Amino acid sequence: MVRRMTRVWRRLDAVPANVQAILIAVIVATLVVSAVQRTGLLERLELDAFDALIRSIPDRGPNERLLIVSVSEADTARLGYPLSDEVLARAIAELRRHGPRVVAVDLYRNIAYPPGADQLAEQFRARNVVGIRFIGSDPLNGQVPAPPALPSEQVGFSDLVIDPDGVLRRALLYVDGEPGYFSFALRSVLAGYPGARNEFGVADEALLFGEQPIPRLRHFAGGYADVDNGGYQTLLRFSSRRQPAEVIPLSALLDGHVRRETIESRVVLIGETDASLADQFYTPYSAGLTDTDFAMSAVFVHAQIISQLLDVINGTPAQFRYFSRLGELGWLVLWAALAALMSSSIRNPLGSLLLILAPPVAIAVIGWLALRGLLWPPLIAPALAAVLGSLIAIAAGYFLRGAQDNVTGLPGRSAFLNRIQAALRQSTSDHPVAVAFFDIDRFQVINKALGHDAGDELLVRMANRLRKWTAHERDLARVGGDEFALLFRDRDAASVERRVGEIRHGLAEPLVLGNHTLSVTASVGVVFVNKHSSQHPDAVLRDAHTAMYRAKARKEVQLEVFSPDMADQALARLGLESDLLDAVRNKEFFLNYQPIVDLQTGSVLGFEALLRWRSPKHGQVSPGEFIPILEETGMIVPVGQWVLESACRQASKWRSALPELDLKMSVNLSGRQINEAGLESVVRQTLSASGLAPHALQLEFTESMIMRDVESTNLLMSALRSLGVSLAIDDFGTGYSSLAYLHRFPLNTLKIDRAFVENLTEYGEDHQITHTIIALGQRLNMTLVAEGIETEEQAEALREAGCHGAQGFLYSAALSVEQVEEWLAARPNLLH
Ligand code: C2E
Ligand code: CA
Ligand code: CA
Repeated sequence: MVRRMTRVWRRLDAVPANVQAILIAVIVATLVVSAVQRTGLLERLELDAFDALIRSIPDRGPNERLLIVSVSEADTARLGYPLSDEVLARAIAELRRHGPRVVAVDLYRNIAYPPGADQLAEQFRARNVVGIRFIGSDPLNGQVPAPPALPSEQVGFSDLVIDPDGVLRRALLYVDGEPGYFSFALRSVLAGYPGARNEFGVADEALLFGEQPIPRLRHFAGGYADVDNGGYQTLLRFSSRRQPAEVIPLSALLDGHVRRETIESRVVLIGETDASLADQFYTPYSAGLTDTDFAMSAVFVHAQIISQLLDVINGTPAQFRYFSRLGELGWLVLWAALAALMSSSIRNPLGSLLLILAPPVAIAVIGWLALRGLLWPPLIAPALAAVLGSLIAIAAGYFLRGAQDNVTGLPGRSAFLNRIQAALRQSTSDHPVAVAFFDIDRFQVINKALGHDAGDELLVRMANRLRKWTAHERDLARVGGDEFALLFRDRDAASVERRVGEIRHGLAEPLVLGNHTLSVTASVGVVFVNKHSSQHPDAVLRDAHTAMYRAKARKEVQLEVFSPDMADQALARLGLESDLLDAVRNKEFFLNYQPIVDLQTGSVLGFEALLRWRSPKHGQVSPGEFIPILEETGMIVPVGQWVLESACRQASKWRSALPELDLKMSVNLSGRQINEAGLESVVRQTLSASGLAPHALQLEFTESMIMRDVESTNLLMSALRSLGVSLAIDDFGTGYSSLAYLHRFPLNTLKIDRAFVENLTEYGEDHQITHTIIALGQRLNMTLVAEGIETEEQAEALREAGCHGAQGFLYSAALSVEQVEEWLAARPNLLH
């Protein structure tokens, strides 16, 4: 059982979180609301809603086929109260003289009111006169029999059914029995319409007028929860809130003032209308009426029922319809689903709150139209289901997705941490959990160059690409600005690494952003853990992040698996990184200058500017440590510009002090700087600002820098060359592949890396390579400068091989400005 449940849960897990949230919302909202609905708690509200909508539907006005003869206080004042049998007999006779369809006497006349008993009995013998009797719920006290003179088939009972809230909405038309019991209204119609009488029938679930059924009201119909639905009841459709038929006073009738057209062929009802004489009933209209007419007398209600029955006989739709149980459930599901769908598709919390109000409004409008079309659907229940559905969908969505990310729709960091926790619990040392941390390379550059909208678009695209690689949507998260994390389970390390490699490839596929085609790469760090490593999810993610950082630093390798010593390094690095930010602000950088000398003559050719950082916290930090950080963070761009400006200013000073030396200044460039647009104009402006002759400036590129994008580096180099600046390739020999390309670049100088110089004096591979490099440089007409010369033997060997320039501790380490000036002064022989 438990296993089956977990299996179902696992499968559900593959369903996206927002779909899960909607499903939960729909199921819970429907079940809760339909349970509440059955307890009857909503009935009162449903009935109020019904009344409110009914009141706003336009009136149909008096029914032409009916006439009401009202017995009011004015009449009884003149004719006496109660009306004598003689007066009533006269009224019936007067009516019958003008050919009515039926005369329905809506007056309780169980005893004689002399004089005139014979006259009245005479009138009652006519086939189209109908009388009423009352059957209350209490069989002993609540009975008022019909006038004894009336044949039983001309008598109908009066049973207006009052709802639990005291409002009259239903009529009991017929009660089963041998013979059946007919209501006063039904009797009146059947007496007036012999055709209908012949066609009338009773089925199990409906009364039938030929083909026209009047279905039995069910106990849960419309907004009802569980009303007493004994007999054949129907919901009243009031044709008019005040006047269902033309009304004439009894006195006017007796005075002979009523014309034949008013009576002929009509169903005529006689009844007491004033509140002082007759019971009054609250109708759905009562709340909307403020004057004395807010309640209706029985004769008016009977006119309403008869009017409704006449419509049925004529085939005009007059009966309300309702949903079945199943239909009602579907109706609730529909609204819960609609609301849940809407609110979970809106990511803005305020928007989804506003949307909660939309379904109830829509239900009110639809309900109004439905009631107009004689359909009574529950209204409060679906509104409640919709509101509940929205709220549950929002809440469930929040918990299932975590605070979901607005841009990509992916789970956020906290949700992902929970996910790692859960995965760790299931892991074993055979089945470790792997977390891969993806960081988009150069995201800030793209964001800055193309704008934030494009940046967001890029994130969405990357997220969608990552989605394709994840079986479970929730195993993927956006954990930082341009950072994504992915959880791998039940896989061995090799297959995770292979998959990550595939994902990296997939991510790098060219994509079109605006009108740019880009290939966006990502650096990835992976960490493997299982439950025995007892790691906090936070730490797992941090380690993956550290590995990613490592991958990024190592440029060529963009995938790195975490090892514990990375953490310490990462921590130290992080300290340096934030201190470097301050260094830029506090101007803690300065330059040293290392002399470059002519190997053949020993005279000074110029200097290489080398960046130094003296931190108040760490003291002097080696460039090998801080320059990579400047490069990764992009700080190298402004710092590099400062190096260029300072070096040019310094060179310009020395050149005017020592014009005979024709000193040159070498400045190192970083890959970031050459990727940045406008380097050429920066160099041009720096030259003119410092007044340095262009040929006195040499810019150093490394092999790996120029190999990353051969075409554009070539363009940049040509542009720089046309400014008159000379160009060097630095650390030459560390990347073999570029030898073949060397001739393609407009280079002036080739700097042989220190590594080759070190072992130069022993015969071996390095010796061979150095000779090859020198020969190549000479063939390409380049100036050759050897780096890192520490001994006289090295200098001698290079001199013999034909190298032109040299740089190294043998001559001097890098010096401050003052030291350079002392150094120059102390070596007059270096001058020409
Ligand atoms: P690089 O361009 O190859 O600079 C030469 C490095 O060799 C310097 O190290 C220098 O002090 C060292 N050196 C010179 N002669 C000898 C020697 O005889 N023996 C030994 N063992 N080393 C020698 P430094 O100053 O630590 O700079 C390291 C690297 O940092 C530089 O290598 C360069 O790539 C980078 N760098 C320095 N300043 C800048 C700068 O302003 N901008 C950029 N982008 N990179 C810079
Ligand atoms: Ca250099
Ligand atoms: Ca170098």
